[in-house]
Amino acid sequence: MSTTMIQIIADTHTHTVANTHAYSTINENAAVAARKGVRFIAMTEHGPAMPSGPHIFHFDNLHKLPDIISGVGILKGCEANVIDYDGALDIPEKTLEKMDWVIASLHLPCIPSSTVEDHTRVYKILAQNPYVDVFGHTGTNSYIYDYEDVIKVFKEYDKIVEINANSIVVRPGSHENCIQIARLCKKWGVPVVANSDAHYCEEIGKVDVSLQLLEEIDFPHDLILNADFDRFKELAQQKSGRSYEGVNRQP
Ligand SMILES: [Zn+2]
Ligand SMILES: [Zn+2]
Repeated sequence: MSTTMIQIIADTHTHTVANTHAYSTINENAAVAARKGVRFIAMTEHGPAMPSGPHIFHFDNLHKLPDIISGVGILKGCEANVIDYDGALDIPEKTLEKMDWVIASLHLPCIPSSTVEDHTRVYKILAQNPYVDVFGHTGTNSYIYDYEDVIKVFKEYDKIVEINANSIVVRPGSHENCIQIARLCKKWGVPVVANSDAHYCEEIGKVDVSLQLLEEIDFPHDLILNADFDRFKELAQQKSGRSYEGVNRQP
């Protein structure tokens, strides 16, 4: 086992009991993050098109949550579902614009697999959507796209690519595909986040497989946005307009 030098200080893809196939509250997630030295978490619930996802009211009411829980900065976000190959999402713009962190993902219950051409096209359309910050687990075999073609466009529109630890383990093909994707992100200077996609609190911060993959290809550390406190805090402030002044640098 190689030991990695990179440590993440933010987990930007996490779920809570607001959807019924996840099992921890935001307080439990934050407490585990605090214990593990993860200084920020993005709460990114599945959009309403996902069976077992929350109602749209969940997203409109996120202002009820504090900005900091257990000393951990909370980004109030969503994992919006792509619902057609013209780039429609299942969360309206008036809600997306209030979000701190918007992941756009393709999931089989919400959109069937199509051709490489369709997958490529939809990612290129979504790259131009100003509300989308990050693309979720794009390495799956279900939605293969023209990696180089799309990643160049992600660069052009300043988007972030996820290296999703859960998908590398559970989604077929993801490890090999993510290596190709990460190599192209390195080539084109597209930033990534390594995240857990936690559906239970103890999964928060578990991104070893993502970090190992990035180390294997000598991925530049300064393009891993959630691997440095100051870099991520600045990004979080910029995305959210919140100060996060009470977030502890040290756990
Ligand atoms: Zn889920
Ligand atoms: Zn997902």
